Amino acid sequence: MAETIRGKGVISGIAVGRVMLAGQNLDGYLAAYRPGDVAAEQKKAEAAIAAVTEDLLATIERLRKDGQTEQAAILEAHRMMVQDPMMADNIKHKIDTCGSAPQGILEAADEQAQLFEQMEDEYFAARAVDLRDVGKRIARHVLGVKEPELDAGQVILCGEEIEPSVVAGMPTEQIAGVILGSGSATSHVVIIAKARAIPTVLGIGDKISLINDGDEVIIDGSRGDIVIRPTEKERALYETKIEEQTKLAAHYAALKDLPAVTKDGVRIELTANIGTHMDVDNALTYGAEGVGLFRSEFVFMGSTTIPTEEDQFKAYRAAVEKCGGNICVIRTMDIGGDKPLPYLNIEPEENPFLGYRALRISLDRHDLFLPQIKAILRAGLYGKAAMMVPMVISVSEIQRVQKLVEQAKVELAHEGKEYADIQVGIMVETPAAAVVSPLLSAYVDFFSIGTNDLIQYTLAVDRGNAQIAHLYNPFNPAVLRLIQRTIQSARERGIWAGMCGEMASDPYAAVLLLGMGITELSMSAPSIPRVKEMIRSVTAARAKELLDHVMQMEHGVEIRAYMHKELGDTTTAVEV
Ligand code: PEP
Ligand code: MG
Repeated sequence: MAETIRGKGVISGIAVGRVMLAGQNLDGYLAAYRPGDVAAEQKKAEAAIAAVTEDLLATIERLRKDGQTEQAAILEAHRMMVQDPMMADNIKHKIDTCGSAPQGILEAADEQAQLFEQMEDEYFAARAVDLRDVGKRIARHVLGVKEPELDAGQVILCGEEIEPSVVAGMPTEQIAGVILGSGSATSHVVIIAKARAIPTVLGIGDKISLINDGDEVIIDGSRGDIVIRPTEKERALYETKIEEQTKLAAHYAALKDLPAVTKDGVRIELTANIGTHMDVDNALTYGAEGVGLFRSEFVFMGSTTIPTEEDQFKAYRAAVEKCGGNICVIRTMDIGGDKPLPYLNIEPEENPFLGYRALRISLDRHDLFLPQIKAILRAGLYGKAAMMVPMVISVSEIQRVQKLVEQAKVELAHEGKEYADIQVGIMVETPAAAVVSPLLSAYVDFFSIGTNDLIQYTLAVDRGNAQIAHLYNPFNPAVLRLIQRTIQSARERGIWAGMCGEMASDPYAAVLLLGMGITELSMSAPSIPRVKEMIRSVTAARAKELLDHVMQMEHGVEIRAYMHKELGDTTTAVEV
């Protein structure tokens, strides 16, 4: 019987296909396994580690050749986990105790995974899945269990948790969709699915037991709906939607090289938000004109110690070069809040989003900040780099940043390293910065409005709290006023203003921002075509009219409804 369940749609799009249950359970194999003596078991584990390393290297190379750089990077991280001497020691120790290679391997991986899980941060907790994935991979090798194999056809992967390597190792065209019992938007499986625009629904909890291997399902990644064993009528309904989706994708592909320009000739730059330099290639396929936000903290989070100036330089230079003359805005590290970094040993805080984060750490820790500034200045030689600082609340912070930029230049000159003079701007993501934007504008080359934080701080609504998500409204009049003020201050000072918060990917918001005089919008790359289409369909004069009307309105919900009434439906491209 057909059944519809609802989870959280995290990557939109509709997919129909047969379910492949992923995330193999090895219990049966383990029960049947007969270990040899301890020395033999140790040898088997060593051999499995070597074989898995080789397998991974081959897959990484294939992915790189196919241009799947993000997936390659994730498997590269797995390879490092497999070859981590601490993991090897731990496995040895466990085998000494339990006498079984696969058991010891799984226990060692589990123990390390638990350490990650104890971290409150979602990003690090999600790394636990990678560790268990790595453990299973090595154990499968000892047990002689094949890696999950696929039929020729497309599948919808479904699992309580799915090992990132399963998704990374499969060709994109074989995965129609992903269903996860648990997971979060920052888990690695979701990161991979996002890069490939695979419709994904997560958080269905216990209801996952209603889905069997081989079941036909339809998933709607915008609404979060999963139709299990659909009826003919349901299938026909969704088939129409899929046809529309295919037409839309072709339509968007045709927009790739067209400029985001209004009917009356106002040009907006559409750029991408990235987490690693490897994301640039993918962003360019959606028509990104450079990078408006390179979240450099991912360079820090991908390392177990503070990355050196040289390591950072390599990552920034690669991104800047790939942007090919278009802007590449590198945000200095935004650690803290929901992104802690274990090796910085920051004390746990009652209220981390209002605590020791981002620029506050950078200004305290010159040992971190100066190498980063130097790396960015040096990367500037390879294209159009810009440096942006997060979480600013006052003029004095920018003055301190400026002094450090000067110091970095002096040090570089001393060291005989070349660098470029680059733009230095700030994120306007605190109400304080928006309010004093007329003062801040005197010290910077640009503003980029970070609405993800600006909304949460303005409305006192935690950006990650589902219970109050309805209050987190970008169209709230208080938010719109702060944004308008910021753009106005930039224009009066003759500097540019852009937006890199998620609000920039909302086509209705884009029209209002255009009306306010914004010149750059940065977003997850798959959202670019949809916003571009909206910009190309209006005039700047009409955008201004709509803005003037909206600024008289009192309720955020009504504002959105009004924009919908005036501009019609915005097509639903992949949203991330
Ligand atoms: C923002 O706050 O809008 C932003 C882009 O930064 P992050 O989401 O990384 O906090
Ligand atoms: Mg922010």
